[in-house]
Amino acid sequence: MFRMERIFENTVDFIRDLYKESSSLIPLHAPVFLGNEKKYLEECIDSTFVSSVGKFVDRFEKMVAQYTGANKAVVCVNGTNALHMALMLVGVEVDDEVITQPLTFIATCNAISYIGAHPVFVDIDKETLGLSPIALEKWLTDNTEIRSNICYNKTTGRKIKACVPMHTFGHPCKIDEIVEICKKYHIELIEDAAESIGSFYKDKHTGTFGKIGVLSFNGNKTITTGGGGMLLLQDEKLGNKAKHLTTQAKVPHQWEFIHDDIGYNYRMPNINAAIGCAQMENLDSFIQNKRETANQYKEFFNNISSIDFFSEPENCRSNYWLNAVLLQNKKERDDFLAYTNGNKVMTRPVWKLMNKLPMFVNAQCGKLDNAEWIAKRLVNIPSSVNCLL
Ligand SMILES: *Cc1c(COP(=O)(O)O)cnc(C)c1O
Repeated sequence: MFRMERIFENTVDFIRDLYKESSSLIPLHAPVFLGNEKKYLEECIDSTFVSSVGKFVDRFEKMVAQYTGANKAVVCVNGTNALHMALMLVGVEVDDEVITQPLTFIATCNAISYIGAHPVFVDIDKETLGLSPIALEKWLTDNTEIRSNICYNKTTGRKIKACVPMHTFGHPCKIDEIVEICKKYHIELIEDAAESIGSFYKDKHTGTFGKIGVLSFNGNKTITTGGGGMLLLQDEKLGNKAKHLTTQAKVPHQWEFIHDDIGYNYRMPNINAAIGCAQMENLDSFIQNKRETANQYKEFFNNISSIDFFSEPENCRSNYWLNAVLLQNKKERDDFLAYTNGNKVMTRPVWKLMNKLPMFVNAQCGKLDNAEWIAKRLVNIPSSVNCLL
């Protein structure tokens, strides 16, 4: 115990030194506004186009599409409703099933639930923290059958419409293998890339492998618009449909109000998009900065045998949105959380596994050994862009 406390003390000292912050609270992830944010906001207000029409909305979409290589990008009010929209766009309906990972933020499962669909939980890989292609294939082989190109769950009789892997803390999962499996089983693929703007798998941006990818620009993400989300699409027609449905399904007309579908008011206001444009201009430097911080953590924890730093998986370039360490067991994890938070260095355990939450305790699950192993040990440590680097 004494030995561990010395290690925790050294860790707190190291983090305080890294962020040159000797006594105040060090947050887990604070936004940084160093560029044109104020200028664009002022332009936006001066123009009076503060709401859902304006040049920053279009510019922000173009910037993100170009950066990620997506054919089309469509803004949303936040990542959660972008996920909801993505699931509707690929045809998920009431009582369908959607496969996802138990280790994710609640938004993934909430979006599935908004439709009245049901999540099925399949294990993660320890080396990516994302959905395991091996576990996915095994679960599908054991539990499903294909009839007329539709995948059915043999136990529940329901259709399995979609699969939503998540790129945890910005680390890409083995997405190319998941693409192949989903194709084979006629399942639509949506990537929850809410945490992974700026993360690449084999030089291709996360969120551009599936039919739709979803980004989040919440205040704690790598770049922020205050609140915000985006859909990344490859199919131009589906992209246009996404735009239509997120903007009340209004048919363009000079003065008449005509709507040809049940639409949603999911469009990001111009004022948020203005911040987004300024943040995009700094994205590359933010990521370089975050990768440098990750390197420093890695070197530090290399000398500590009882705490492992989580490094980016093979063939990946991660944005290192949130740095993570693994403690030896739950007791040491809890001691580490108590010590660091007690000393005003903000750290957090990983989310409680989705299948343990009251809404999803009855969800069907594969074997979740890796997720359970990780959930007991993982802690996120301060990861903001370091303005002093
Ligand atoms: C942040 C996040 C979302 C979306 O969150 P919003 O706050 O609605 O933008 C979705 N999934 C994951 C995994 C996230 O981390």
